[in-house]
Amino acid sequence: MEIRIALAGNPNSGKTTLFNTLTGSNQYVGNWPGVTVEKKEGTLKGHPDVIIQDLPGIYSLSPYSPEEVVTRTYLVNEHPDAILNIVDGTNIERNLYLTTQLIELGHPVVVAVNMIDLVRKNGDSIDLEKLSKALGCVCIEISALKGEGCMAAAEVAVELARNHTHSEGPHVFGGSVEHALAHIEESIEGTVDRNYLRWYAIKLFERDDMVRRELGLEKSLLKHLEQHIVDCEEELDDDAESIIADQRYKYIDTVVKRAVKKKHGKHAMRLSDKIDRVVTNRFLALPIFACVMFLMYAIAMGSYEWSIGTLATDWANDVLFGLWIPNFLDGILGTLGVSGWLYGLIMDGIVAGVGAVLGFVPQILVLSLLLSILEDVGYMSRVAFIIDRVMRKFGLSGKSIIPMLVATGCGVPGILASRTIEQENDRKITVMTTGFIPCGAKMPIIGLFAGAVFGNSPLVAVSAFFIGVGAVVISGVILKKFKTFAGKPAPFVMELPTYHLPSAKNVLRSTLDRGWDFVKRATTIVLLSSIVLWFLQSYGFTDAGFGAVEDANASLLAAIGNLFAWRFYPLGWMGDMAWKAAVATVTGLIAKEEVVMTFGTLYNYAGELSESGNEIWTLIAGDFGPVRAYSFMIFNLLCAPCFAAIGAIRREMGSGKWTWITVGYMCGFAYGISMIVYQLVGLVTGEAVFSLFTVLAGLALVALLYLIFRKGYVVKAEKTLESAGMRR
Ligand code: GDP
Ligand code: MG
Repeated sequence: MEIRIALAGNPNSGKTTLFNTLTGSNQYVGNWPGVTVEKKEGTLKGHPDVIIQDLPGIYSLSPYSPEEVVTRTYLVNEHPDAILNIVDGTNIERNLYLTTQLIELGHPVVVAVNMIDLVRKNGDSIDLEKLSKALGCVCIEISALKGEGCMAAAEVAVELARNHTHSEGPHVFGGSVEHALAHIEESIEGTVDRNYLRWYAIKLFERDDMVRRELGLEKSLLKHLEQHIVDCEEELDDDAESIIADQRYKYIDTVVKRAVKKKHGKHAMRLSDKIDRVVTNRFLALPIFACVMFLMYAIAMGSYEWSIGTLATDWANDVLFGLWIPNFLDGILGTLGVSGWLYGLIMDGIVAGVGAVLGFVPQILVLSLLLSILEDVGYMSRVAFIIDRVMRKFGLSGKSIIPMLVATGCGVPGILASRTIEQENDRKITVMTTGFIPCGAKMPIIGLFAGAVFGNSPLVAVSAFFIGVGAVVISGVILKKFKTFAGKPAPFVMELPTYHLPSAKNVLRSTLDRGWDFVKRATTIVLLSSIVLWFLQSYGFTDAGFGAVEDANASLLAAIGNLFAWRFYPLGWMGDMAWKAAVATVTGLIAKEEVVMTFGTLYNYAGELSESGNEIWTLIAGDFGPVRAYSFMIFNLLCAPCFAAIGAIRREMGSGKWTWITVGYMCGFAYGISMIVYQLVGLVTGEAVFSLFTVLAGLALVALLYLIFRKGYVVKAEKTLESAGMRR
């Protein structure tokens, strides 16, 4: 018989790590909530008949967020055979809040007290026997990360499921609450599964809307129940939901007092808190964050001798893809005696194009490595906290930070993560703006211009990142003023996990994942496009009819590019570079790496072997002055994301109209900012001359400022959601 075990616990309690240990699968381990929104299944290692279900992390069974709805619906309606409740041992009070509710559900429950390695390191101890006794269910200590105790915990759960051993009964509330609960249970007996009777009664006592609707109780019955609830509320002088939450916490306090011994007592400040005093300090937080970003980009793609990423990328561009591979292929193709066009296709199309992209692999790897370390250490959660503070100042939802942080890897999961935002208007804004964040695929664009035009200054990448964040915040402010998006955002509650040393396994896994994704795209979709692109730029109509052309400016590709290149004239795309820039931008819609591939192919003139890959860079630097290069980079970072991301937008918006609005908004915003930068900054530096477009750029700036500072639509008194489980 098949046995299903549900893995439930708070966000960041280690569910995904445990899931991977138990099933041998490779789910992404994220340090923020929302990464697991869909539930995932796997079979328990060595037990093909046992299915483990990884559920989204939740703080309580009251459905205030989509994660809670998913988890609760699963637990209540799908009847798993047992629940493996994973509890963060370093944060046991808050985690047990959910545990008490899970036990009420009536399924067999095993509590796995996780992070026991950290608990021991802190010098604390948890008496599992006492804990088991107090909670009335089996408790086992584990370390999901080290694999300790995980199988044992799962096997106990399987055993309980096989024998249908239920927990010894949930804790008892105060007298008057139990009195009301007894009445409620009595009135709904027969309507619900016996095992769930107590859980339903408690939910009805809390006036849980979802349960009321689900049970479809008659008005007269509801009125009768209401009387009992009100009686109890009057006696205890509090509202029903708070009464339950309060009594749960009091109960948990007694359990913890009995079973947990803390070395430093409750109020001693941990090292982690001390670090946070500095790192999340009101004034220091943003400067520290900026420094961290600077250091990260400096190591990954800076101009210094110790910039590992740049050293390796220079080598890859100049030596590997600039000399070795071309010379090697040159030899082979020469021996084979391939025809001229095939030689051109391979050398100037594929090697030049794909090589230009692959040259950035070292920088991408170093960047991913550093990001993964920051994430695993716990710093990225602080970043979320810091940015939330900024967002809140502007009346924006801090919840869009998680999608933003995920999007630094790839926009697609970033956009999907926006579904954790319960309020429709804020979710829409997030979907519309998450694509502004520079993702991994945009890094080569940044690296290309930083290298070709700005001497590898890490400031280019840092500024690109903050321009992305700025675009999100500014767009949020602008959009929030429209009636469609107005409204007070729901509070963003996020715990800050204790800082800990990064685990080599986690870090390597996510670094290699990202690097592999990049290589995969470069050798499939980018490769295919480079072939198409090479044909289009090598053939065209000449006086002698259709055929190979010497000058790419006479090619089909140039003709196609010139069809729409004029639209970008206000951004400074002029002369021969205009159609190249236009083509690069359009191919960027397929995948953002294609922008660099396109430049690699188009600037690799006349089939002559370049002495060094940097020759392409010199040609690009000749076509782009610093302001034009920067403005081009901004446009490509902010304009419509790649097709995959547009697909994700479509999925999350669930509407074609809103997808178009999003793409239109992003392109318009990118165009405006890019024009303002080129025309106005360029005017100062002398790169642009005064023209009608200068005036246009001035008007765009005024319009932007108006949209930011105008008085928006104001919503009158509004109820905000507040979860009882998060009130502490
Ligand atoms: P989820 O949000 O519940 O899925 O939690 P994750 O599996 O993503 O884990 C959150 C963080 O806790 C990750 O950085 C893990 O490496 C870390 N972690 C998980 N289990 C343990 C453990 O047993 N010991 C330690 N020290 N860290 C752990
Ligand atoms: Mg997870």
